[in-house]
Amino acid sequence: MNPYWSPLVQELKPYVPGEQPKLSSLVKLNTNENPYPPSPKVLEALRHELNGSLRLYPDPNAEQLKLAIGRYLNVRTEQVFVGNGSDEVLAHAFLALLKHEQPILFPDITYSFYPVYCGLYGIAYNSIPLTDSFDIRIEDYARPNGGIVFPNPNAPTGRLLLQTDIERLLNGNRDSVVIVDEAYIDFGGESAAALVNRFPNLLVVQTLSKSRSLAGLRIGFAIGDAGLIEALERVKGSFNSYPLDRLAIAGGVAALEDRDHFEWSRQAIMWTRNWVTQALADLGFEVLPSAANFVFARHPAHDAGELAAALRERHIIVRHFRLPRIEQFLRITIGTEEDCQALLDALNALVAGKAAA
Ligand SMILES: *Cc1c(COP(=O)(O)O)cnc(C)c1O
Repeated sequence: MNPYWSPLVQELKPYVPGEQPKLSSLVKLNTNENPYPPSPKVLEALRHELNGSLRLYPDPNAEQLKLAIGRYLNVRTEQVFVGNGSDEVLAHAFLALLKHEQPILFPDITYSFYPVYCGLYGIAYNSIPLTDSFDIRIEDYARPNGGIVFPNPNAPTGRLLLQTDIERLLNGNRDSVVIVDEAYIDFGGESAAALVNRFPNLLVVQTLSKSRSLAGLRIGFAIGDAGLIEALERVKGSFNSYPLDRLAIAGGVAALEDRDHFEWSRQAIMWTRNWVTQALADLGFEVLPSAANFVFARHPAHDAGELAAALRERHIIVRHFRLPRIEQFLRITIGTEEDCQALLDALNALVAGKAAA
């Protein structure tokens, strides 16, 4: 251990993001990026922003972006918080809203950044097992807690919790904050943002990384009661006054305003997901029904780690987590039809090849 490190840093176990390979010829189905380019209007807005005004700081409040989000989700700007990717928004929310006496609750199988934030901020947590079918059971969260957080649809399972269940959870949990991480909500779910006026303890977090094809621009936001948003602003104002640069603000506004491109891209991905789900099932995979831009699947006769390695040799990368309960699953991002056809061809050779041997 390095003696210059603080005791906190000695203990930190950082999140490990999916690989970003240098080789561009790979079929990259490992980090849930959108296979389609962002709206051409985003690129136009970025070009328009490339001028001498880059010498000036951006708007610290990103007002134009908050207005665009407010128009999109029908909320007031005081109910909107924006950050440098939803990872940053979540980090601020953990510190601002989830650090209390009681442990917070989240599913045992979920976004692996949550325990990392807990480690960073010294927040105790209990992980609540998903059911055998990998679903969140609302009753399991009816216990004293310092807050609740989960993705909807969940990651990496893709399983969706219905709006009525989220309401049930909120009705039974009025004394602490519930954070719904909607990174994948646009691929088949209904946003809980519609509930924020009724539940002052609900924070809904979304990102432009997935459904808007802007993972490279780093834009995330939260919707909630103005009181919750103020807490996030306090943390942000104690950390970085300008988390969103001029390009991100301009590009984000343009992305939110191009409803047609958004609709086209998410419909294409949902269509491809349904096709891939069926094709994987035809190859003998068990595929969890997904409402996200990825599927989570296992094969009863093939080790997931070996499949992932064999796919890699064929220049296709998917995500494999060596974690309890899910070590036999592959998380496969939905790419273009061509990407997915390449995946299915490779799996067909691997799976059928072994069966014939
Ligand atoms: C991708 C993802 C995020 C983070 O997205 P950003 O790129 O930081 O906006 C947050 N939560 C979940 C569950 C994700 O999968």
